[in-house]
Amino acid sequence: MIPSHTKQNSRLSKRVQAIKPSGIRRFFDLASKMDNIISLGVGEPDFITPWNTREASISSLERGFTAYSANAGLMELRQEISYYMEDRFSVQYDPETEVLVTVGASEGIDIGMRAILNVGDEVIVVEPSFVSYAPLVELAGGVPVSVGTSIEHDFKVTALAIEEAITDKTKAVMLCFPNNPTGSTLNREELNELVKVIERHDLIVFSDEIYAELTYDHKHVSFAALPGMKNRTILIQGFSKAFAMTGWRLGFVLAPPDLLAAMLKIHQYSLMCAPTMAQFGALEALRQGLDEVERMKQSYKQRRNFVVKSFAEIGLICHRPEGAFYAFPSIEKTGLNSEAFAEKLLMEERVAVVPGSVFGQGGEGHIRCSYATSMDHLEQAIERIDVLLQRLK
Ligand code: PMP
Repeated sequence: MIPSHTKQNSRLSKRVQAIKPSGIRRFFDLASKMDNIISLGVGEPDFITPWNTREASISSLERGFTAYSANAGLMELRQEISYYMEDRFSVQYDPETEVLVTVGASEGIDIGMRAILNVGDEVIVVEPSFVSYAPLVELAGGVPVSVGTSIEHDFKVTALAIEEAITDKTKAVMLCFPNNPTGSTLNREELNELVKVIERHDLIVFSDEIYAELTYDHKHVSFAALPGMKNRTILIQGFSKAFAMTGWRLGFVLAPPDLLAAMLKIHQYSLMCAPTMAQFGALEALRQGLDEVERMKQSYKQRRNFVVKSFAEIGLICHRPEGAFYAFPSIEKTGLNSEAFAEKLLMEERVAVVPGSVFGQGGEGHIRCSYATSMDHLEQAIERIDVLLQRLK
């Protein structure tokens, strides 16, 4: 029997036992046992990886490239990542010393935390946020300190809110823009405000920009492109979202040489290298796949516009997500909390969404709806949500 996280088991590490299981899981376990479900739950593209990427990976296997790559990743891929980041986001990284190919962006966050944290160091986590940040801080011996954002300010964090959470133990700030789950992002002016605080308090920034390509209303500005920030930034990136490659488990991290060397040390002992065949696919994705990225982006944008308009029509307040593929409407007016609402929606109307409360401070009162699904499903899901709202009136 799997022990609950509240009961101590002397066979297990205290640190692991203190971590709560992900709040998303319960809903997916429930939904997976039901028929006729429309899922707006999962955070992944509904596109299959473009064929040329798959073919490049298959071809690498046919040609016998089945061995380990360099620990940091194929040199050709690191070089291509470096060109891509300069071309798309105006940041310059040396492929020899500042680029590391990881097993998903997830690994980048994990080894970044483990590389910089000493026991008790605090990391400010801007929430609502992707569910893995706080647990990964804790697993690295750190203490996550949550700073909430709200719909009133379009889920944008302010320099003041960050500064108020800083103590003499603060080591880093975890940012994610465009954001999962809110779809909110930060423009150059808003980012420049944060720069002053980061400099004043000598902090490191984890900037999770995995949704950078999926920015719909303006050009994405990377945190590392801001004046003086490259040397303080651990830039998290990956192929899962914009390149529709979640199952390939491939990401990359960009950081100044001292931080990258520390991450590489952990990576070489725990992972050795990212899967070689996936790296060959990614190389092709960067060389020939950007038109496909643009096509998928336009499709998400169309669906974003539809979902925002539809939520307004059925009377749900929803800020306009500027990136990623999530909408985060408020369900506060129903009087139910987000978990109760999501459960009712699943059991009574067969639509799976994720309760906002699982994403931390500021998430309660909202539901996360991924619009990376067909228009047909989106239309039906909105109709079903409307039926529940009418019944709850
Ligand atoms: N960061 C964010 C914000 C995400 O939403 C996700 C995936 N849901 C990840 C990182 C992890 O991505 P990967 O598949 O590259 O590990």
